[in-house]
Amino acid sequence: MIKTKDFRAIMPTAEPLLDRLQDLYQDLPETRCSCEQPGVCCTYLPEITVLEAWQWIRCMQAMPESELTATFRKFVEFYLTNPARLSGCPFLVDGVCSVYKYRTFGCRSYGLWSQKMGRTRTRESRNGKKALRLMWKGFGVELPTDVVEFEIDYCDKVQIQGGKPLQDDTIMALLQQVYDLGEPLGDFQTRFETEYHSDFSFLMTSLVLGMKKALLEKLMVIKEIVQKGTETRLQRALDKVSPDMLNF
Ligand code: SF4
Repeated sequence: MIKTKDFRAIMPTAEPLLDRLQDLYQDLPETRCSCEQPGVCCTYLPEITVLEAWQWIRCMQAMPESELTATFRKFVEFYLTNPARLSGCPFLVDGVCSVYKYRTFGCRSYGLWSQKMGRTRTRESRNGKKALRLMWKGFGVELPTDVVEFEIDYCDKVQIQGGKPLQDDTIMALLQQVYDLGEPLGDFQTRFETEYHSDFSFLMTSLVLGMKKALLEKLMVIKEIVQKGTETRLQRALDKVSPDMLNF
């Protein structure tokens, strides 16, 4: 499990890499969205690299305490409830990204991949959700159909503002560069990927509850929400969130 002291240890190495990360983002063209449901593509959190996780932590640390606490709680709530609720990325405020400059490569490249690639990913995601539903069924939990079957078709409304459309292999090469940027962080990168499945909400929840407890608590919280319609356990977990936990 990644602990506070681990974040302290990587800070001197991670910090100078953030400018380079922003430079790499600039290799993607600026986009504009003409969708009638702005923010719907932010219903789920993107998978992010460890350096992007660090960038988001720095963003949160820069927030006033009340905003930091509220955002931290939203990430914990997102993690503990996400198979049973569609709450959206915690950084999404009134349909707008509140950390626009610091949105991740996954956020920025959405809509830039070819429709073929996008549709393939959408199909994979739908299949993954079927497997997820079966897994939860094995725990005695029937996930709500409207949540587990929610999946928007790949967006075709993203418009490029200057610059040319990129080929999938170019976007993939850029993504690889973003990933490789985390190499100086050593096993921190691998641990975030393998232990946390590149899920920032899991990382945040583990800081509050510990890793094993986060997994167990998720099971109990979802069971309570789905079977009783109450959220006592969720509120108890959220009450443990303290801004001090990101004070490193
Ligand atoms: S960081 Fe911003 S763009 Fe990315 S999923 Fe969250 S709200 Fe959407």
